[in-house]
Amino acid sequence: MSNSKDKDLSKPENWSPDTMMVHGGTLRSQHGETAEALYLTSGYVYSSAEEAAARFTGESKGYIYGRYGNPTVSMLEERLRLLEGSEAAMATASGMAAVTASLLCQLKTGDHVVAAKALFGSCRYVIETLLPRFGIEVTLVDGQDLAQWQDATQENSKVFFLESPTNPTLELVDIQAVSKIAHSVGARLVVDNVFATPILQKPLELGADIVAYSTTKHIDGQGRCLGGMVLGTETFIKDELENFIRQTGPSMSPFNAWVMLKGLETLDLRVEKSCASASAVASFLGESDKVQKVIYPGHKDFPQNDLFKKQMTSGGTLVAFELNGTQQHTFKFMNALKIIKICNNLGDTKSLITHPATTTHFRLTPEARAETGIGQSLVRLSVGLENANDLMEDLGQALEQSGI
Ligand SMILES: *Cc1c(COP(=O)(O)O)cnc(C)c1O
Repeated sequence: MSNSKDKDLSKPENWSPDTMMVHGGTLRSQHGETAEALYLTSGYVYSSAEEAAARFTGESKGYIYGRYGNPTVSMLEERLRLLEGSEAAMATASGMAAVTASLLCQLKTGDHVVAAKALFGSCRYVIETLLPRFGIEVTLVDGQDLAQWQDATQENSKVFFLESPTNPTLELVDIQAVSKIAHSVGARLVVDNVFATPILQKPLELGADIVAYSTTKHIDGQGRCLGGMVLGTETFIKDELENFIRQTGPSMSPFNAWVMLKGLETLDLRVEKSCASASAVASFLGESDKVQKVIYPGHKDFPQNDLFKKQMTSGGTLVAFELNGTQQHTFKFMNALKIIKICNNLGDTKSLITHPATTTHFRLTPEARAETGIGQSLVRLSVGLENANDLMEDLGQALEQSGI
């Protein structure tokens, strides 16, 4: 612990994460407002034609156009940058815009990408279907098998991509080991850190080069609007990503940035409570004979607990479980829930449950689903902020009505 006497508290870098989330990046106008101002503007007025010209050459610092930047969006970028500990950050309109831009801004025809198979459905589409349309080679591997990552490397490998924990089966990928393999061939590792949140896992400290978020999830955390963020080195963000976003337009709306700023203020409190409830729910489900398998990082039956301890500080807000029955039983169980809502979103204050095989992952071939462990009786539960006992009672009564 550093002594408070030698800590310069005027530097946000010296603040604790919970202080960063409240004060980080705040830009106060001449009015001295307490809460962050919402700058709903698409353009900016210059004091003279010369000033406009100087902004465009970069000699004068300042905003030019909403697609390039906005003060409310800048506040969010700086707040999340501090929390992640990266050199730079850039917001996007959605998590998928963050993932797509972070890949396309650095790839060209003839490059090669290595990615884990177990991915959020749209990330898998971008990597498996979209990139090859532009002559970018792709190799999909079993993310848990480090030999497959190693064997997939090629001279033209430029980007490695993974998410951990994965959606929906919560498998972990060893970020440190994969980053070493990527760096051995001069490739960069991009990590989609949505499931872990910036609170529970620090991919950059584990060797990743770029982190992407859907801020739609825990960072808004209250189910209101879409957003994304890409974090990395100053040179990557400024020289590669920024120009791509400027020219192609997946920019975050200032209103959404304002909502996300407010979300960040309570991120740690919300994630901490949801994690505690998720862990209790996982133990509760593990005791039911109507449940075949519970998947929750850190839970006693979780097969990757050594890796879990190495790279995460808590198991997260999601629990996946397989019922001891058919798809019909599973639907009956979901339909009987009274507090938990059926919804494919996650990271919300409200507990949300989804059946991946028929929703988020229904576009995958049956073989691809089987390969990633997405069976007909698997459900994914995003644990919210309700009373944990109420959630367990709700799950218990719905299991009773499932017909299993
Ligand atoms: C939701 C999600 C995304 C996409 O984010 P959007 O904001 O919905 O575009 C990407 N990756 C993961 C892991 C997600 O959960």
